[in-house]
Amino acid sequence: CMPARLPPLDRAARARTLAKAKTVLKIEGLVKSYDTRKVLDGVDLEVRQGQVVALLGPSGSGKSTLLRCINRLEGWDSGTIKVLGRHIGVDGNGFALSPREIADARAEVGIGMVFQNFNLFGHLSARENIAGPLRWVQGMSAAEADRRAMELLERVGLTHRADALPRHLSGGQQQRVAIARALAPNPKMLLLDEPTSALDPELVAGVLQVIRRLAEEDGLTMLISTHQIGFARDVADRAIFLDQGSIIEDGRADRMLTHPENPRTARFLQILS
Ligand code: ADP
Ligand code: MG
Repeated sequence: CMPARLPPLDRAARARTLAKAKTVLKIEGLVKSYDTRKVLDGVDLEVRQGQVVALLGPSGSGKSTLLRCINRLEGWDSGTIKVLGRHIGVDGNGFALSPREIADARAEVGIGMVFQNFNLFGHLSARENIAGPLRWVQGMSAAEADRRAMELLERVGLTHRADALPRHLSGGQQQRVAIARALAPNPKMLLLDEPTSALDPELVAGVLQVIRRLAEEDGLTMLISTHQIGFARDVADRAIFLDQGSIIEDGRADRMLTHPENPRTARFLQILS
């Protein structure tokens, strides 16, 4: 079970640590089109180790596409993405690698992804959803994979549901299993695409609390697209506002979400609140 609400972030301490942290992700001039329409229009973004970045913006602004490019689920037209200094893709062209090479590149740089709709294996128990990929992809022994799965289920407060199938878990519990699974190979960065938007309101808090603990206790680098403005203000170090495939505002989450400078950001926040 989940502990009570955590105390406020120590923003000053986090800012000091982040100022010295190395760059994990560096995106330059990223352009992506579907047919003739540009959905990412020259995105530049640098993220430091341990930074929690909230990705905000109206529906269709390119948030999912950006996360999918970073995790190599999509190719792009031009621009570069580097993770820990390593190019993801060949000459910035995401289409140039085979699925196998993409899987290897993703594993090598260590990126985990959590989707809006959980994407769990429906026929596998919670522990097998985590242990299975550790055996198949990481080549871990059965005993070691199961031990790691149980350790991760404990981190997300679900040891008591370890043997349940996804359909017997609540949406919030399924998302916590999905987070545990994404963490299993020890990623250097976690991408979360609207992790709570498919959940009933009463299930949102437990998932957000897990994410917050990853930020504070593990210092995990995270990019989170979300419409949960209060959560972004509380947990993110930095907020980025995307509109029509461009970053139109980028700054400290607590400031931007209280006093946005761009009128489009202000209008969007007004609609959500
Ligand atoms: P967001 O996550 O901010 O809602 P998306 O990245 O999903 O935005 O979408 C950005 C734009 O790209 C939208 O206009 C969407 O319709 C379009 N789009 C997304 N995926 C595809 C696709 N596979 N094929 C064609 N258009 C797409
Ligand atoms: Mg989306």
